[in-house]
This record gives sequence, structure tokens and C-alpha cells, in this order.
Amino acid sequence: MMGNINTSVPKGRRCPNCNELNSEEASFCGECGTRLIPTKVKCPDCGSTVDSDDKFCTSCGLPMVKKLKCANCNTENEEGTKFCRECGTKMEV
Ligand SMILES: [Zn+2]
Ligand SMILES: [Zn+2]
Ligand SMILES: [Zn+2]
Repeated sequence: MMGNINTSVPKGRRCPNCNELNSEEASFCGECGTRLIPTKVKCPDCGSTVDSDDKFCTSCGLPMVKKLKCANCNTENEEGTKFCRECGTKMEV
């Protein structure tokens, strides 16, 4: 994790999109609405909690596959799926 923490750093969450400094409790940027806290997903292999932005499980190295939600029936499809496995709707890339 992080080594030495600089105490002069202002408290809060900085928006990765617009650089706005938001309060520590903020989940979304008050300026542009960008999500400040990464969503957590569970590794299907070892069960550890992994940031949804991570490409691999930080515990076992399993590649994390992003799920695509079908706009029509809400079924979750694997990343790279061209057509929904449930209803055949074309997936937006
Ligand atoms: Zn922002
Ligand atoms: Zn894992
Ligand atoms: Zn579907």
C-alpha cells in the first residue's frame, strides 16, 4: 500500500476527472458527478474483494472479466460478448 503519507495533503477525495477536491465522505464528485470510490467485485476464484477497475485479482491473479449488462433484458454478459446470451440483443461496445 502507500508508504509515507504526507500530512500536508489536503483531506478529501480528488476527482480523477476534473480534479475537484470533494469531501472525504463524498462518493461522487460534486462538480462533474464522476464516481470517486471504485466499486468492489468478488473474485470468483479466491473470494477476495477486488476493485472493479483492476484487471486481475490482487490475491490470486485471476483475470477479472467485466460484465456487460444487456440494455434489453438486464442479463449480465461477459466482456466481448457481441449479442446477449439471453435475448440476442446486440451489445453496445
Ligand atoms: Zn469531477
Ligand atoms: Zn482471486
Ligand atoms: Zn438481453
